[in-house]
Amino acid sequence: MKLSWKQYDLHLRHAFRISRGVETIDPVMIVTLEQDGIVGYGEASPSPRYNETIETIEAFLKRIDFTRFTDPFQTEEILLYIQSLATHNTSAKCAVDIAIHDWIGKKINLPLYKFFGLDKSKTALSSFTIGIDSPEMLIQKVREAEEYPILKVKVGMENDREIISTIRSVTDKVLRVDANEGWTKKEVALERIKWLQDQNVEFVEQPMPASQLDDIKWLRDKVEMPLIADESVIGLTDIPKLGDAFDGINIKLMKCTGIREALRMIHTARAMNMKIMMGCMIETAVAISAASHLSPLLDYADLDGNVLITDDPFDGVRNIKGKLELNNNPGLGVVLRS
Ligand SMILES: [Mg+2]
Repeated sequence: MKLSWKQYDLHLRHAFRISRGVETIDPVMIVTLEQDGIVGYGEASPSPRYNETIETIEAFLKRIDFTRFTDPFQTEEILLYIQSLATHNTSAKCAVDIAIHDWIGKKINLPLYKFFGLDKSKTALSSFTIGIDSPEMLIQKVREAEEYPILKVKVGMENDREIISTIRSVTDKVLRVDANEGWTKKEVALERIKWLQDQNVEFVEQPMPASQLDDIKWLRDKVEMPLIADESVIGLTDIPKLGDAFDGINIKLMKCTGIREALRMIHTARAMNMKIMMGCMIETAVAISAASHLSPLLDYADLDGNVLITDDPFDGVRNIKGKLELNNNPGLGVVLRS
């Protein structure tokens, strides 16, 4: 099995501001796995929140020695080996996981959704993310997002009310909000959420820092709006402690190490009667397609990472008015644009 990788610098349609900072160019690492003349694609999109950079991804990939493996169907064994190389490095691990799954789908000539026993007509309707901006720019962004029926809005700043009121002045679409751990005082979080409940907001993601789980439990008892864990849930082992604090979890392939772990998380959260969301980082059609193949299993999807960029190097899943439309090509169904 041969692994190679290449960095792509993705350009954002708009500078992207959340409560942690601003971005305009986002680098990702595209990984290829070759065996028996078949090439599987994978992707790592590093997040500073989880201490990853393009450099840490490359350093991790360089440590992988695949000479002992000749069969990607030994997936569990291979991924245990990948896990054993280092803790964290979740997006680098994810790239390998996605590439193996793409390879398997191509080898058996099946799109991944079929391999997982899922119905392509039931792929999710994704929200479209509106980053924090001036009132004028927010209005422009909402207008540009006209084709998307669900908007996800970043809050967690001092001017939350202004942001939501501005958006509500131009649209009555379903809104989902993401505080990205921005409210650090529980009383403030409570007051903001109570206000949001009157603004036709469907749910709030990560109202408070992951380190303040007891405050989030306190909050959940006092609000009706569902609370969805994002930064509080990295992988499978985080889920059991979240049952009293959150109504659902936001799984991201880049946080959880890939498709294999995401499936385990979906089943575990279901067993706890929690809602399932999948989200993304800024990613190409490679990683967005990987998540889209699992999307018939979701309650909510926020898989717009490749429509927020202007230069996706890959063609794969299409986002048609928010609906994730998969093709029938084997594996992920992605091709590198020429
Ligand atoms: Mg989030």
